[in-house]
Amino acid sequence: MVRIKRKTLEAIIEAARNTYPEEFIALLGSRGSGAIDEFILLPSVYGTTFSSIRLDLLPYTANAKGSVHSHPGPYARPSKQDLAAFKAMGEIHLIIAYPFSFENSKAFDAEGKQLEIELVE
Ligand SMILES: [Zn+2]
Repeated sequence: MVRIKRKTLEAIIEAARNTYPEEFIALLGSRGSGAIDEFILLPSVYGTTFSSIRLDLLPYTANAKGSVHSHPGPYARPSKQDLAAFKAMGEIHLIIAYPFSFENSKAFDAEGKQLEIELVE
């Protein structure tokens, strides 16, 4: 189970829409409530593939709960490259697939096992 603030997920979905057809990538954070309530945009990696992120160049990686990225296609399933990146970027990983809505948002753990999303206010 992954708890995410509804407003945060809405903002992530909006950002994924705005970035389409390029891939949107951000780190997920939590400011103390336990739920994911912030995301840190990584504008410099727009248009690249998830697997090419230079983790050593990322800010806040140590505090990141996980990551989120968009898939320009309709399948919110982690690729092999995604799974390799997940392991280095925290416990919780969201994939927002086209056409970018709550229904197309899926959460996974670092092993790629799907987690249920609970939206909190
Ligand atoms: Zn991916």
